Amino acid sequence: MPELPEVETVRRTLIELVAGKRIQSVTVKLPRIIQRPAETEQFADALAGHTIQTVERRGKFLRIILDGLVLVSHLRMEGRYGVFPSDEPVELHTHVIFHFEDGTDLRYKDVRQFGTMHLFTAGQDLELPPLNKLGIEPLEPDFTVELLRSKLEKRATKIKPLLLNQEHIVGLGNIYVDEALFLARIHPERSPSSLKPAEWKRLYKAIRSTLAHAVEAGGSSIKSYVNGQGEMGMFQHQLLVYGKKDEPCPNCSRPIYKFVVGGRGTHICSKCQTLEEAGQLKAK
Ligand SMILES: [Zn+2]
Repeated sequence: MPELPEVETVRRTLIELVAGKRIQSVTVKLPRIIQRPAETEQFADALAGHTIQTVERRGKFLRIILDGLVLVSHLRMEGRYGVFPSDEPVELHTHVIFHFEDGTDLRYKDVRQFGTMHLFTAGQDLELPPLNKLGIEPLEPDFTVELLRSKLEKRATKIKPLLLNQEHIVGLGNIYVDEALFLARIHPERSPSSLKPAEWKRLYKAIRSTLAHAVEAGGSSIKSYVNGQGEMGMFQHQLLVYGKKDEPCPNCSRPIYKFVVGGRGTHICSKCQTLEEAGQLKAK
């Protein structure tokens, strides 16, 4: 599933490809992708004649900003966008096609069909589902270690599921949570109330650096991720623990251990990330 860095990469690529283009018509082949408005004809009619101005991001959602409208798009597992000449044959699993006046199409393809699109009048989208309950943006300047701590400290859940919950902090998925917890030397099953100030600081820094580094590298390309121009991301070559079961820990060489936390496959070094505070400190 694309996480913040992948969506950010798609966003940056999409701007280059579609900003300034005017939509002539929209073809919806799979109505259930369109979550708002209820009728797909309304969706298509509302977009016709509007020009894409820019593309923004909130968490893992793309916000395609048009004159007077905002199209909120979530790629979920395998959704991807591509721009093609309109006379090029349409690939299988293409569910929504935005036909531009300049003879090109923006095509949304989604083999798993889990992706969603919501259309709003400008100014509405951040106040309504699915964006209204999203938590803090970890790459924005107002994300601080104090804010992270105050949001999570009193929650009665293990730290990994908390970091995955988009209502607290957005953009982190299974890959980057494992990477950030490893960098911070925090076991994913620690309770947030057990974290010491130094550990909050390490976690904060690890989240920022993991995501910023991945954005710079163009997002990961685990499994099927491809950006808007069909370019694969490169970050998978730089992952420290995710997907590295039985490979040596980059820090201490002990084999990376894989187990399940909150239903999600989880990668740790059991020497560098321990459940006991004392062990944690000794591991430094
Ligand atoms: Zn280790």
